Amino acid sequence: MDDYWGVCGGRIIVRRDVAFWLWLIWGVSFLAATQNQESEAHMGDKIVKTDKEWRDILTPRQYDILREKGTERAFSGHYIEYHEDGTYVCAGCGNELFRSDTKYDSKSGWPSFWKPLADDRIKTETDRSFFVVRTEIVCARCGGHLGHVFEDGPEPTGLRYCVNSLSLDFVKNADEEKSSIRKE
Ligand code: FE
Repeated sequence: MDDYWGVCGGRIIVRRDVAFWLWLIWGVSFLAATQNQESEAHMGDKIVKTDKEWRDILTPRQYDILREKGTERAFSGHYIEYHEDGTYVCAGCGNELFRSDTKYDSKSGWPSFWKPLADDRIKTETDRSFFVVRTEIVCARCGGHLGHVFEDGPEPTGLRYCVNSLSLDFVKNADEEKSSIRKE
């Protein structure tokens, strides 16, 4: 009788080893469900604002670029010649986008990176404006326009993430204090 466990109304209902496996299956299922919930919570971490709300928190130039897909003039951006150690974040929502150690001088006139901080931080979309097919990059959290990605970057990726300075804000490594959003 050692192989059996549990009595209900005088009937043996579960063998001990069967109970163990049922418990194990339930535990694995529970953990899997928990992981899925966490994943969905992360994926659901989107920033959605009305047009007026974006205008309230962005400068007119930031709004033009982030929300209207504008482009700042070449060699005019704050972060082209910028060499601090830290993290570049989305100026619209603070999403961490690029590490400073992946920034390089592309001589294109815009801040350039060869890799995002993580693949899920940025989304790409096909941009057919101006009779040219390009790959637009947008913030995965708020949908803000960042710039474009081209296949003429340095190794190891061979990619050039060409980003408007006005789409970015910067957090220094030393104190992790967010720099004030530039009003340009
Ligand atoms: Fe964003």
